[in-house]
Amino acid sequence: MKTSPSSRRGRASREADRLVDLAEGLAQSGSRAEDRFWENRLDAEIDGLITNGDEGSLNAALDRLADRESRAYEELADAIEGRVEHTVVKSSDGVRDVLLIAAPVLAWSRMPVPTRALGAAMVQSFRKMLIENVFSENTDLAIADYFFSPDQLPETFGETAELRLALTAQLSDGRLPVDTGSLNETAQFLADQRYLIGVVSAPVGSPLFRWQDGLVSRDEVMAAWRQASQAAFGQLLPACGFEPMLPRAYYVACRDADRAARPFSITASVAFLSTTLGISPSHLSAVVAGCYNRTLEEYRVGFQVAEQDDVIHGVVWPLLGAEDEMSDVVEEIEAVLREAGIQQIEILRQRMPMEYCEDCGAPMYPNTEGEMVHAELPETSESAGQHLH
Ligand SMILES: [Zn+2]
Repeated sequence: MKTSPSSRRGRASREADRLVDLAEGLAQSGSRAEDRFWENRLDAEIDGLITNGDEGSLNAALDRLADRESRAYEELADAIEGRVEHTVVKSSDGVRDVLLIAAPVLAWSRMPVPTRALGAAMVQSFRKMLIENVFSENTDLAIADYFFSPDQLPETFGETAELRLALTAQLSDGRLPVDTGSLNETAQFLADQRYLIGVVSAPVGSPLFRWQDGLVSRDEVMAAWRQASQAAFGQLLPACGFEPMLPRAYYVACRDADRAARPFSITASVAFLSTTLGISPSHLSAVVAGCYNRTLEEYRVGFQVAEQDDVIHGVVWPLLGAEDEMSDVVEEIEAVLREAGIQQIEILRQRMPMEYCEDCGAPMYPNTEGEMVHAELPETSESAGQHLH
């Protein structure tokens, strides 16, 4: 029988209520003993909703807690992400942790940054490098045979859990074939993230990552991974500047990449503009403006050639996590611009709208007059007419 939307809404709200109560219980708990009680209940509830594909209740509960600015929001978000990316499986050789992981890479290029299928040999070589440099000995690893853009990552908790399950089923083989026909199109930016995605598995109680052995630090693992993966990522990213990031659990790796992509795209933009126009970064100027919907959503940086009126390029710096207009974000943007060699920086104090071009959908960027305008590279440059955002 088909249920009406209103009765579905009623059910979703009861389930969301339960999540909210459990997360509030956990947030207010005063002992680890009580924590465990709430966590176990919350885990069971979340598992049921993920299995039933009830994305609506998960999001409704998160929205409600976000509005209350309660610490329970963090507890619930952590619990949901934890259940989506991690599970314990029983296998012939005992009980094992299985964790969804991501290895992000920041990349920039004047050409489109590629996404692509990875051949069997490439998958095998990344597996070997990850096991030798990042994961603990005695771990098993399967990776998806595709180099994903952010647009192509799973969109919902359910889809993410399905990807973890599909990868888990390929642990013996080491490689998950990806149906490339089902992937979203990739929006083109000058600088962007790309991802290797996989699952790592180890007996419960033993380390997954090398740094858990206590013999090497995360920084040493990062340095080893960067060096080992340089040539292979170079093959995947021809004509790109790139920076491999530390492979970690899926959600935290994606957050690391989102955060690092902000200064990276400013640095990449300055390098791009100064090489394309053949001028030193000190001849560029930048205008930074806070863009508001209801609240501050993001900063946008418009680049101009000093003493000229046109905005030739722009970068969006989204707010992440708990950042708001009280955070020191402008200072951070300014420091990154200075580090990249820009000396003339103007910070607009007025609230700007989040405007997009009606024709091509590109974000509009602030100019020194305090207007939001379309960024256009000068006609004389070889990249004129290209829409790089
Ligand atoms: Zn346009």
